[in-house]
Amino acid sequence: MKPYDLPDAQGHFGPYGGVFVAETLVHALEQLRAAYEECRGDPQFQNELQSELTHYVGRPSPIYHARRWSQELGGAQIYLKREDLNHTGAHKINNTVGQALLARRMGKRRVIAETGAGQHGVAAATVAARYAMQCVVYMGSEDMGRQAANVYRMRLLGAEVVPVESGSRTLKDALNEALRDWVTRVEDTFYIIGTVAGPHPYPMMVRDFNSVVGRECLQQMPQIAGRQPDHVIACVGGGSNAMGIFYDYIGLEQVQLIGVEAAGHGLASGQHAASLQCGRPGVLHGNRTYLLQDEHGQIQATHSVSAGLDYPGVGPEHAWLKDTGRAQYVGATDAEALQAFHDCCRIEGIIPALESSHALAYASRLAPTLAKDRIVLVNLSGRGDKDLHIVSQAGGLEFFCRPSCREASLAHFGKR
Ligand SMILES: *Cc1c(COP(=O)(O)O)cnc(C)c1O
Repeated sequence: MKPYDLPDAQGHFGPYGGVFVAETLVHALEQLRAAYEECRGDPQFQNELQSELTHYVGRPSPIYHARRWSQELGGAQIYLKREDLNHTGAHKINNTVGQALLARRMGKRRVIAETGAGQHGVAAATVAARYAMQCVVYMGSEDMGRQAANVYRMRLLGAEVVPVESGSRTLKDALNEALRDWVTRVEDTFYIIGTVAGPHPYPMMVRDFNSVVGRECLQQMPQIAGRQPDHVIACVGGGSNAMGIFYDYIGLEQVQLIGVEAAGHGLASGQHAASLQCGRPGVLHGNRTYLLQDEHGQIQATHSVSAGLDYPGVGPEHAWLKDTGRAQYVGATDAEALQAFHDCCRIEGIIPALESSHALAYASRLAPTLAKDRIVLVNLSGRGDKDLHIVSQAGGLEFFCRPSCREASLAHFGKR
């Protein structure tokens, strides 16, 4: 189901998106666009993609009714789309499998990727191993220190991890470095971007590869819940898991789409990653979108307890969905996400990613305000095993799991 004909031929979602890159990349992007267009309509490519998603990724992922949590909250029924059960533990593999198959189709034997928390790097290294391609991952040296386990995973999978020492030595600097690599080696190299950002056709292509998530939900919800949800909620970093579950629901106007950004220490603190709520339109990493920038257009430092949401921009399609009002964007703070993380562990027996915990936090704030027959579907974008060291440093069990803390949390979220 195609809800609208966006982006246009130049990659625009209204005033957002487009192609803002060095001259040398214009041709490479045009080549990529043409190759993708061909694969998109090629049943053989789509069949191979589907087969890989079934046998390698483990799709379809189930939808699970979080009955106990819904009961405790005393309102709407919460359902979880279990992207955490995919191979490598998150939604990112949906996109890297698609782009790797496209790279192979284009005859490129070398793939590069940027990574912040390391999750996209691991997903890219995984498919490079699977399809016998050389893989180079650019990662800020600051992030390499914070995410040592993922660096080791990528190396186990045969990837070369290159530390980036420029700027704040984090994700945005790694992205710049990957673009620089691509400029010098476009003939044999395919750049696998990890979210719905970057120059056209990436936002469209990454959305399409992740839209398998919403497509499955459309089929699964009537079977498990008897009907489609009233609300669909997903966290938003660059926005790929959110676009993935939103896309097929855009045409169902009765379904409310809600993206949850990282509010960090609170939107008023200035220490957050809420580009759509607090940013202004500008150009970064090849496209026009909402950015966190100061009055001189300098990109601002971001903060989130969740490394995967810690990005000063957002995909251009979300900028469009925000302006048109089709989707609504809200925030969840570090503390709210951590509380939801612990609640999900103890009430449902599922350890969620800290990114996904932002969506869970908003769902647990919304559910008690709705009638018991309302349905909230949350994209559980990944599993939380990768976050245990961060959670334990944040106070973990001592702080979030005291009995009194439960009451404090209920009061905080305004429940009952
Ligand atoms: C990377 C990541 C995100 C954030 O990226 P999006 O492109 O916004 O989806 C969210 N959840 C998990 C589990 C991730 O690994």
